[in-house]
Amino acid sequence: MSDFNMFCYQCSQTARGSACTAKGVCGKDALVARLQDNLIFAMKGISAYNYHANELGARDEEVDEFLTKGLYSTLTNVNFDAADLIQLGLDAGEANFKVMKMLKEAHIEKFGEPVPAEVKVGAQGGPAIIVTGHDLLALEELLKQTEGTDVKVYTHSEMLPAHGYPELAKYESLAGQIGGAWIDQKKIFSEYNAAILGTTNCVLIPKDDYADRLFTMDIVKVPGATVIEDYDFKPLIDKAIELGGPEAEELTTITTGFGLSTILSLAPQIKELVLAGKIKRFFLVAGCDTPNPRMNYYREFVQELPEDTIVLTLACNKFRFNDLDLGDIEGIPRLLDLGQCNDAIVAIELAVALCDLFEMELNELPLTIVLSWMEHILWTLLYLGKTDMFIGPVLPAWANEDILNVLVGNYNLTPVSTPKEDIKKIMG
Ligand code: SF4
Ligand code: SF4
Repeated sequence: MSDFNMFCYQCSQTARGSACTAKGVCGKDALVARLQDNLIFAMKGISAYNYHANELGARDEEVDEFLTKGLYSTLTNVNFDAADLIQLGLDAGEANFKVMKMLKEAHIEKFGEPVPAEVKVGAQGGPAIIVTGHDLLALEELLKQTEGTDVKVYTHSEMLPAHGYPELAKYESLAGQIGGAWIDQKKIFSEYNAAILGTTNCVLIPKDDYADRLFTMDIVKVPGATVIEDYDFKPLIDKAIELGGPEAEELTTITTGFGLSTILSLAPQIKELVLAGKIKRFFLVAGCDTPNPRMNYYREFVQELPEDTIVLTLACNKFRFNDLDLGDIEGIPRLLDLGQCNDAIVAIELAVALCDLFEMELNELPLTIVLSWMEHILWTLLYLGKTDMFIGPVLPAWANEDILNVLVGNYNLTPVSTPKEDIKKIMG
């Protein structure tokens, strides 16, 4: 937890002209300050999804209205009501639910519904572009412009799920994946003699040895990188050709692209296996990754799970364990990669479908959610009334003891301990 009770320097009344760190000069206390911070962080996540949905031509007035209202609620001398700010957190969860659904539908309309795809991991030789971030529209434009060249386009980090979309996978230049989560980019981008495109958040300020090979676009700007204008990727493609590309290396594979329809087509078989006791529990193991060594929790957790469990995953922390061969349960893969962080909507729709399948309420399902840092998605799950989730290993720093008590008391949120202990608790 933060050393400061609160930290706010957003107005001219701020203490000592520096920051209010114990109580606001305006009267705002630490609880209100932290709940306002939480709201801002959740709205940042919603804005990212909203931005990409808007780029694809999708818009939801209610989401836009919420973003304006939520932001206004954090202005000086507007809202000192902690209970109302918790409700605004839940409203943020609702807005995030809507925006994830809107973005998913826009992706499916443009690129088709994802189907499972086995993706080659590693360089295949020849001129190469590595694309990182989340922007599938940018990737599509790049794939169009690399048609007819011998440039190979590789995904990195959260671009991996692109391989599952039929309208992206059809391009011959989409060659495979290089690297894992965003945290490995300095190492990977140094190592591979490729041009690089950063499309969204989670791009790092480059090391000198690859800054002249890094291109960004649109809202993304980092020192040393060249900005692509109006989706004109010629400078990026020319750079890839000039570099000549990395040597071919030994390849491995990973599977991604489990869309809702694919999983629902297995529903009758899943039901049979659950009723026969061959599938005991589903786990959604998801969230953002960080370099914190405690994130190893996720690999150990998945490794330790009993063989009669299924793991659904999405977002970056999957790279902690998606190289593991978990096998299958009578043909149903035990590890199902649903996609990017916004594809949490697929997990939610799947949970709703499981409720129908087993005629159960959400919290009665044999489904446990283990989530690393993702506040907007956490608030969506709370808005939907999901209880008994595990979060960690790092707890949200905006949450003080009062807030954690509310989350534990109302939703039975459990901070993760050790994989073995948590699994014992969950499996009984
Ligand atoms: S809004 Fe309140 S807490 Fe923040 S700087 Fe101004 S006086 Fe301090
Ligand atoms: S899942 Fe989270 S950490 Fe990973 S690239 Fe997306 S926003 Fe960044």
